[in-house]
Amino acid sequence: MLVIMQQGAGQATIDHVVERIEQLGLRVHLSQGEFRTIIGAIGEELASYQEQVLSLAGVENVVPIMKPYKLASREFHPEDSQVDVGGVKIGRGQCVVIAGPCAVEDREGCAAVAQSVKEAGATMLRGGAFKPRTSPYAFQGMGEEGLKILRECSDRYGLPVVTEVTDPRNVELVCRYADMLQIGARNMQNFVLLSEVGKTDKPVLLKRGPSNTVKDWLMSAEYILSEGNQRVVLCERGSKGFETEVRFSLDVGAVVVARHNSHLPVIVDPSHAAGRRELVAELAIAGLAAGADGLIVEVHDCPEKARCDGAQSLTASMFTDLMGQVRQLLACLGKDAG
Ligand code: PEP
Ligand code: MN
Repeated sequence: MLVIMQQGAGQATIDHVVERIEQLGLRVHLSQGEFRTIIGAIGEELASYQEQVLSLAGVENVVPIMKPYKLASREFHPEDSQVDVGGVKIGRGQCVVIAGPCAVEDREGCAAVAQSVKEAGATMLRGGAFKPRTSPYAFQGMGEEGLKILRECSDRYGLPVVTEVTDPRNVELVCRYADMLQIGARNMQNFVLLSEVGKTDKPVLLKRGPSNTVKDWLMSAEYILSEGNQRVVLCERGSKGFETEVRFSLDVGAVVVARHNSHLPVIVDPSHAAGRRELVAELAIAGLAAGADGLIVEVHDCPEKARCDGAQSLTASMFTDLMGQVRQLLACLGKDAG
């Protein structure tokens, strides 16, 4: 529930209400505005709680949050959120373009991609060091060595870096090198992993599972938020559909619904949806036109040699062309590059 305090309620009055809410076993999220304080009381609520809180001194109104996710909902936080990743802003009119290889394969290749995407106008770098692969025999990523390469490239080209963490036991390790943690589509409902990244102070990119609803997705975001980490960005990367010409079906409807129901920024990943590089640019533009706050795109210096997702990786020149289209669209939409 949202507890709206009377205008001018003093600190002692607010503290007393907070204390009572905590005694009810609920967690408190304070939002202190210029004129009034709103207290988010989150947890399992009994029907009688609202009445009890309403009777406390200084409380003007109590409003239930109807959505099953609370902290992620627009009811809780009507304004768009903005997430800062190493100085790059995502959301509230700031559009991020994250680009890089699917997986880090070697230092030279990663540096070449980082340089080319930087020159083309990307504002963040991506790359996997821990890869969740369908086959246990497929390339699983370079692990810590890959993280070191990402850190070097990030620092050299001034591009904050996002990389996936697949295992709760590796969260601390990945935090040492990354600016943002990615939760991959396959792990969207790995609740232990979500709670662990929620305990860190790193921004989190939460991909939507290929068979999950927007509600499932926002419930997963809630796991992270409820641990205290408010810096969550959502990423739509395509759902399982019946079309065989694409790898997954990019769901622009989900982008729209997520932005309606939640204050969290939403970006799109046209690469994993398309599965083929020739489809990536148009899907990217469709995602931005639907209101997405940015893109994450796979780019490789030599896609035919890529150890992972080469078919959907753009060449440097294709990425440069895409950035030209992105700039034109952002100008139409009145948005800025993050
Ligand atoms: C990736 O970003 O390389 C990746 C594995 O994405 P997803 O989790 O969306 O499949
Ligand atoms: Mn990939």
